[in-house]
Amino acid sequence: MNAEIIAVGSEMLTPDRVDTNSLFLTDQLNVLGVEVVAKHVIGDDRDRLADAVRRSLSASRFVLISGGLGPTEDDVTRDAVAMALNRRQIYNSEIGEGIEARFRRMNRAMPEINRRQAMVIEGAEVLSNDRGTAPGQWITVAEGQGSRVVMILPGPPHELKAMFTRECLPRLAPLVPPLVIRTRVYRISGMSESDLDQTISPIYKKYENPATTVLAHNGDLQVHLRARCSTEEDARALLDEVGGPIEAALGSLIYSFNSDPLEVIIGRKLAAANATLAVAESATGGGLAERITSVPGSSAYFLGGFVTYTRRMKTEFLGVSAALMEQHGAVSRETAEAMALGMRERAGATWAVSITGNAGPTTDGHDAPVGSVFIGIAGPDSISGLKNVETFHRIWPSSDRPRVRAFAAQMALDMLNRQLK
Ligand code: ATP
Repeated sequence: MNAEIIAVGSEMLTPDRVDTNSLFLTDQLNVLGVEVVAKHVIGDDRDRLADAVRRSLSASRFVLISGGLGPTEDDVTRDAVAMALNRRQIYNSEIGEGIEARFRRMNRAMPEINRRQAMVIEGAEVLSNDRGTAPGQWITVAEGQGSRVVMILPGPPHELKAMFTRECLPRLAPLVPPLVIRTRVYRISGMSESDLDQTISPIYKKYENPATTVLAHNGDLQVHLRARCSTEEDARALLDEVGGPIEAALGSLIYSFNSDPLEVIIGRKLAAANATLAVAESATGGGLAERITSVPGSSAYFLGGFVTYTRRMKTEFLGVSAALMEQHGAVSRETAEAMALGMRERAGATWAVSITGNAGPTTDGHDAPVGSVFIGIAGPDSISGLKNVETFHRIWPSSDRPRVRAFAAQMALDMLNRQLK
């Protein structure tokens, strides 16, 4: 049971806009057991769109089209679908009056071009739009043995979501045999993507179902298992069968067994321990605090921090000695350690994390090479030997400044998470 999604709109072929409607639709279809096998983005071009509709319809049972339902000449979806299906469009006076009434309520006369929005493809069921002017359409197409369905939906995400949920889901449910798709997500930190795949591919390669995907983003790795089964129990059993050996192979490198990111896991541990956290950042310029405070309720454990970019600020705000930085450099293990200890003491926090590094793209007068990052973690008890502070060093093989900074924040969270019980 397959579906294809077509997002219509030239703006989504520019660098400024992305199609997000298909993410919502894919999620909804997957829950029903419908697999999305292709997604397309087509500009406001009637012939090209008609071609895309014909092709999708010949390959998939459901074709969902979003956008291009406005009143103007460049809103081509109705015309393109009518062309592809070789059907006429008929003016629907009820819709026309509804649109006129909508304009009256806003004390405006309906512009003549809005009449286009009341055109309905022959044989279509009208999908009402309670949030905008353009109604959607549900068109059943007899094709060989079975039937296929084209759904035309509005582009604005809030309109599309409301219409799909209210109008399409109840029509889809009886057409779809019971098939459940369930996903399990593992999040992993502290290893490379290739090491991860080398470790787990001998396990997942034996199975076509569940489908396994490995995703990597700035040092954060995810493994997604997607099981398609006829019952919930079968899906769960299959995920256990493949997930079990993956969990055993990765052990503590897995930090999350759902899609929770590190900052959420850390927040939960800190709150449970009644502990607090402060941060002292240099190279990341607040990126670490940004991630920590993105979690609702983080004020329960996050006290705050300093962005100490210059040596003088590191000395004034964190008490890092100028002589120490002179001797070892501002990007050094010793500075990271002093920053974390200074931050912890001045904030009166249970834990403090520091980051100092050279994010590049040039060495910028630093002794440390581009991509070199030191993390300091200061805590309540001895971490390394007799000291209550530990430092970690990585050199990212990249001079891409945003990536080095994102890696550094990810690494700091990973190191902190490993220290927390
Ligand atoms: P309207 O009647 O409001 O013009 P429409 O159905 O013609 O609705 P579009 O004009 O294609 O929709 O898109 C309206 C807005 O909706 C776009 O500017 C964009 O912000 C958003 N939008 C359209 N398609 C998508 C999409 N696939 N994903 C996310 N946003 C979208």
